Amino acid sequence: MTKNFFDVKNVDFKIGGKIKVKNVSFSIQKKGEIICILGPSGIGKTTILRTIAGLEDIEKGTIKLNNKLLSSKEINIVPEDRNISLSFQENSLFPHYTVEKNIHLGTERNNISNKKKINPHDLIKLLNIKNILNKFPHQISAGEAQRVSLARSLASNPDLLLLDEPLSNIDQSFKEEIQVELKNILNKYKITTIIVTHDSYEAFYLGDKCGVILNNKLIQYDTPYDLYHFPNSVKVVEFLNRGVLIPAEVTSPKSLENDDLGIITGNFAKPYPVGAKVKLLIQPEDLVHDDKSNLKLEVIDVKFRGTNFIYTLKTPSDKKLSIITNSHHIHKHEKHELFGIKKPIHIEHIVCFD
Ligand code: ADP
Ligand code: MG
Repeated sequence: MTKNFFDVKNVDFKIGGKIKVKNVSFSIQKKGEIICILGPSGIGKTTILRTIAGLEDIEKGTIKLNNKLLSSKEINIVPEDRNISLSFQENSLFPHYTVEKNIHLGTERNNISNKKKINPHDLIKLLNIKNILNKFPHQISAGEAQRVSLARSLASNPDLLLLDEPLSNIDQSFKEEIQVELKNILNKYKITTIIVTHDSYEAFYLGDKCGVILNNKLIQYDTPYDLYHFPNSVKVVEFLNRGVLIPAEVTSPKSLENDDLGIITGNFAKPYPVGAKVKLLIQPEDLVHDDKSNLKLEVIDVKFRGTNFIYTLKTPSDKKLSIITNSHHIHKHEKHELFGIKKPIHIEHIVCFD
């Protein structure tokens, strides 16, 4: 059996003497994998990173990196001896050093000589920091400070990199570009990374696996695809906020029926007996627009997103469904008009809850 590169087992994460996230287990199998942690604010995400970095101790469970025990009830290896780099959510640059010096400190902090450090010039270019190298932290914007602090934590090429909402202050226009470059550099140097973010698109893009923290628990830990298509609970659906649950009755091993939408066909992720009353998950990509269909619902909102339109439709029983159409769809349907949905609705993976 191969051992995991990083392993958290049955850990209660606590801060200020209080347990925030209970009995957490997850692992990173291979060096270089990227994990994203999602969850509402105040749930304990920062606490998890601080604990992994060695800034908080634990009384239950174990944390191991590269088969070395870092934290347990008895052991708490000091942060300097973990070769873990934590980039804090808030600005943590040294105020009396220039941006350039701050970045170089990232490589000096870890005195591991035979390790391949990341060339600071690559990072300066990647994160577009060139023009502010001689400035001091109080002379740069919050977004710039985040980029500098990202560069500083990458520079040391740590065994494990922890990023706490690293792009939250970065302009939307620049964010996607940084996400791409960040992923490239993490992949290139095989830096194992745990990223806390509140942006699920960011998590879906960057993460090999995503963990969702809700109600003091790591409620689901899966690939982005499985998290989105096979949410394991109503709470995860509500948190991701991209799907709607509608009441339905199972009519055969490959179909269900809903009063508003009629027969819905597809493949059940988990089998249900015929006659079972369930909550069926409908996501925007499950519905297909068809002007000729006799299944018509009222448009209550239209969002133009450039590449597509997102229509919000209201069913007779007052459920709000989203559906995406091509941006070039000639006939734009205004608010309060009727909007046709192709019948029968076919759902690739049918996900239901009791
Ligand atoms: P998140 O990063 O998910 O927003 P945090 O881990 O920062 O959440 O905080 C989790 C909870 O612990 C919050 O309710 C917060 O107020 C509390 N907390 C954070 N730091 C401390 C501390 N040093 N002492 C006591 N409580 C804290
Ligand atoms: Mg936080």
